[in-house]
Amino acid sequence: IDIVVELVDARVPLSSKNPDIDELARNKYRLIVLNKADMADAKTTAAWQSYFEAKGFFVAKVNSQKGAGMKEVKSLIEKVCQEKKARDKKRGILNRPLRAMVVGIPNVGKSTFINSFAGKACAKTGNKPGVTKGKQWIKLNKNVELLDTPGILWPKFEDQAVGQKLAISGSIKDDILNITELAMKLADYMKKNYPGTMASRYGIEESDDSVKVLADIAIAKCCLMKGGEPNIDKAASMLIDDFRSLRLGKVTLEQPPQSEEE
Ligand code: GDP
Repeated sequence: IDIVVELVDARVPLSSKNPDIDELARNKYRLIVLNKADMADAKTTAAWQSYFEAKGFFVAKVNSQKGAGMKEVKSLIEKVCQEKKARDKKRGILNRPLRAMVVGIPNVGKSTFINSFAGKACAKTGNKPGVTKGKQWIKLNKNVELLDTPGILWPKFEDQAVGQKLAISGSIKDDILNITELAMKLADYMKKNYPGTMASRYGIEESDDSVKVLADIAIAKCCLMKGGEPNIDKAASMLIDDFRSLRLGKVTLEQPPQSEEE
């Protein structure tokens, strides 16, 4: 492999990134694809793009479902191809195509990306291991070949917040996590980073107490229990569902760190 095309979820670019790939792909060309950019906050996606570019990666923003951004990916790969060609030429190697491989965590959109990028239904979507039979090289043009099978990286839960963000965004199953706890985190984050959004959607006040926020959403949306008490759990599911369906707008769940320590 000459170039590793690493897909991350634009809503959680760091949490959906497996840091081990930096070791595995050492000395390779690297392209980070901020996928699902259609679901993320465009301003923050641009900030993430600069963040990764400053670290020396090629970066593209993409919506694999619609094919948006594929031209940019193609032109970045073309650029790498030219660089590699010049390097090969110096070493006396001629006409070796650039070999690319897509990697990323489950559900980040690897199959959708490959289908869209290669322009035909050559990789099955879905994250069931084993859906693809043998590995094959897809010839994109005379200079570039793409492995039809993506490499699956597992998310790395270095701290609890990573798992929580992946669960909120729907990248990992949430049935092992407490939805109400996730919704409280989301309410806190929304209040700080997208103030006024929940207020205008639900007609509530954005209190500092996230349990109160959920209770107010429950009351506003008539999610009440038999005795008339607000049904916090139901409001929690509604908030998470509204987030995933973009009813809270395009929201990114993490901001680029300001310093390395952060
Ligand atoms: P994989 O497990 O990494 O191969 O992920 P898939 O290609 O199966 O995609 C997982 C889900 O994300 C599917 O429901 C896709 O339709 C969806 N998806 C993939 N890329 C995008 C994208 O750019 N935008 C949006 N909105 N959805 C996407």
